[in-house]
Amino acid sequence: MTAYKDLSREELKQLKDSLEKKFAQIKAKGLKMDMSRGKPSAEQLNLSMGMLDVLDSSSTMFCENGIDCRNYGALDGIPEAKKLLADMMEVSPDNVIVFGNSSLNIMYDTVARSMTHGVMGSTPWCKLDKIKFLCPVPGYDRHFGITEHFGIEMILIPMSEDGPDMDMVEELASTDAAVKGIWCVPKYSNPQGITYSDETVRRFANLKPAAEDFRIYWDNAYGVHHLYEDRQDQLLEILEECKKAGNPDMVYKFSSTSKISFSGSGLAALAASKANLKDVSSTMKMQTIGHDKINQLRHVKFFKDLEGIHAHMRKHAEIIRPKFEAVLTTLENELGGLEIGSWIAPRGGYFISFDALEGCAKAIVAKAKEAGLVMTGAGATYPYGKDPHDSNIRIAPTYPTLEELKEATEIFVLSVKLISVDKLLG
Ligand code: PLP
Repeated sequence: MTAYKDLSREELKQLKDSLEKKFAQIKAKGLKMDMSRGKPSAEQLNLSMGMLDVLDSSSTMFCENGIDCRNYGALDGIPEAKKLLADMMEVSPDNVIVFGNSSLNIMYDTVARSMTHGVMGSTPWCKLDKIKFLCPVPGYDRHFGITEHFGIEMILIPMSEDGPDMDMVEELASTDAAVKGIWCVPKYSNPQGITYSDETVRRFANLKPAAEDFRIYWDNAYGVHHLYEDRQDQLLEILEECKKAGNPDMVYKFSSTSKISFSGSGLAALAASKANLKDVSSTMKMQTIGHDKINQLRHVKFFKDLEGIHAHMRKHAEIIRPKFEAVLTTLENELGGLEIGSWIAPRGGYFISFDALEGCAKAIVAKAKEAGLVMTGAGATYPYGKDPHDSNIRIAPTYPTLEELKEATEIFVLSVKLISVDKLLG
């Protein structure tokens, strides 16, 4: 493979002609495909249908501590659901509150509560002139959406294969009291599939923030979402590390079963120090008399224990691994050596992150759309939807069928080639 940058103008023009012909042929097929959001496929959701049968009208609806799950009570979750999620989140049940159906909802409420009521007695953020959040990039668009919604200034922190640039994080958190938080997806990150190294986790735990109410928003959404049996990333447990470092209150850890059971109908949980949970509960008890305990019971009866969750995740992996591999193989076969893009082969999670030549991402996504392929909007992985390099594109391989995905990836690589040739031709 000759790198595109080493081709002469004449060769680039010829290449462009042949790529355009290919593109016209694909476009004529009138395809309609969506690779934009990280949603499980119907086949994955089918894996959890048995959950709808674990309870029927003859089932006992009492949980371990005798509470009737059909009635109010158990504000922080039924004991067996707390245990299941605590095991999944690698913490003690005493450090867990089981919420409703969405971890994003907990994150939103956490920021909202800090705005209106402050964090553990500190000044509510709405009374301060400026609030800032550190945002490792590329990252999860909906995190950035929350902080943008509250007018919080977002500071970009570059990611490396070990996690966020910790020199920058340490510097900013320790010198600026307006910095109140950082968004993290520490395992199989969205979108790069990166897992933070032990050193990164320890540096997080040992931060010395200028603001007493600084919190790490540790969104471990993909904690058990491995693609391979024999190659699994390991992440140090942050609550324990923070405790060891004398910073027990510095972290909120979020998780959910959205991509384990049913997306939007799973269980979500927060893990944090007891002091933090007390603070959270003081608002939560004004918001609700309790979350959906019947769904909690259903999840416990279906999964039984952590091994049940792992076994279930192996079935997910069987379905989605070939999809990831199909995309990665096409990227490698079609783009390897051309030096017009780079990507990371993840070992888990939901995404493949692609970096195009600078200034090309928007045009590539638009080109793919011409041929009927909807991708995540370029820029979405950056705060304010603005990628300063216009380079990052998030590929979400889980939802389309394998056949669709193969066609979609063909369109994608063709779009990458065409737009890259255009850039090199100037
Ligand atoms: N956090 C991350 C990093 C995600 O990628 C997603 C979904 O894509 C969520 C949270 C949403 O989780 P939930 O459905 O529990 O709100």
